[in-house]
Amino acid sequence: MDCKGDIMREDIYVYEHAGKLYINLTNQCTNACTFCLRNHTDGIDGQPLWLQKEPSAKEVIEKLTGLNRYEEVVFCGFGEPIIKLDEIKEVAAYVKEKGKKTRINTNGHGNAYHGRNIAPELKGLIDTVSVSLNASSAEHYDALCQSVYGKDAYAHLLDFAKSCVEAGIHTVLSVVDVVDEEEIEASRKIAESVGATLRVRHHY
Ligand code: SF4
Repeated sequence: MDCKGDIMREDIYVYEHAGKLYINLTNQCTNACTFCLRNHTDGIDGQPLWLQKEPSAKEVIEKLTGLNRYEEVVFCGFGEPIIKLDEIKEVAAYVKEKGKKTRINTNGHGNAYHGRNIAPELKGLIDTVSVSLNASSAEHYDALCQSVYGKDAYAHLLDFAKSCVEAGIHTVLSVVDVVDEEEIEASRKIAESVGATLRVRHHY
């Protein structure tokens, strides 16, 4: 609960955006992207997403009362969701049990952060892993994303994407539509080199 003057607010663990249901698990992130939404806003669609406390899986599941209205649940909040791997697995198991699709939007540092190949743990629980590629070189990525892993961040991201493909998970690499055609084509080749597809996504 946040107290600002007389205003009290509850943390938002589950929110809707563009007709989809999203799960917000953490503020933590291994990047500090120059383009991150968090640099200029507190939330999405007027919903404040900075958390005072990270939720347990049970606390998230309790908020999924309207689940039957949605086709897909996306783990994507105001930080890097894969940091909360145990919570993802528990919530995703619940969502799959209800017959819904699951996706994680991630910066792709999951294997590096947890110190092991986590892709097999996601198989069967997560239908799609969408990794933000953001750039077609390690140098450009480093300049844009300012990761705690420095210039190794890009290799970690590609390694994770490859692990997900090898685990049999539908894997997508994404770039934002502010980059030029040449960068998009280079990114497409990189995505194909790890067995993933490229998605060009719209910048907020
Ligand atoms: S990886 Fe995502 S949450 Fe983390 S800083 Fe970059 S845009 Fe923001």
